Amino acid sequence: MLEIKSNGPNETQMVAEKLAALLQPNDLILLIGDLGSGKTTFTQGLAAGLKIDHHVKSPTFNIVNEYHQGRLPLFHLDVYRLEKTGGADLGLEEYFNGGGVSVVEWPKFISQELPPEFLQIKLQRGVTIHDDDQRKLVFTANGVRYQQLLLDLKLQLKK
Ligand code: ADP
Ligand code: MG
Repeated sequence: MLEIKSNGPNETQMVAEKLAALLQPNDLILLIGDLGSGKTTFTQGLAAGLKIDHHVKSPTFNIVNEYHQGRLPLFHLDVYRLEKTGGADLGLEEYFNGGGVSVVEWPKFISQELPPEFLQIKLQRGVTIHDDDQRKLVFTANGVRYQQLLLDLKLQLKK
């Protein structure tokens, strides 16, 4: 586990950029947190770190946005709209096995379709009351690949 405090969107994106440099094909990142906690902001940092020169917006209305111009493809999924239906029969595994990096906002709504191993990042507001720009980022690794990734990220963040 790794816990990081962020004092603003730029700090959150900087952490994401450092993570992006360490990512490999078929890596999966789950972003957990309330509306406005910074999931899409984090994904923008990942895109920047993958050298995707494109403004990343929330894909809420089309579920998946794909970006193919960076070091690796980025598949940005926001599955909030699948709250009632789940994600069966949508072919989501094509993203998870598609050779890119998959980032999922609201992963609990497709829990049945998720691969067993991933890096989970929980974003929480309110590290201290009165500061609207503070967030706590809690990283948890599921599986050997992601344990190694988390170790590598810790080293990067010390630099
Ligand atoms: P989500 O995708 O979780 O709904 P967004 O990333 O769309 O959240 O929105 C987060 C909002 O909070 C943005 O307006 C962002 O600028 C703001 N914000 C303020 N402080 C932070 C921070 N430390 N980390 C991330 N976002 C922050
Ligand atoms: Mg979002």
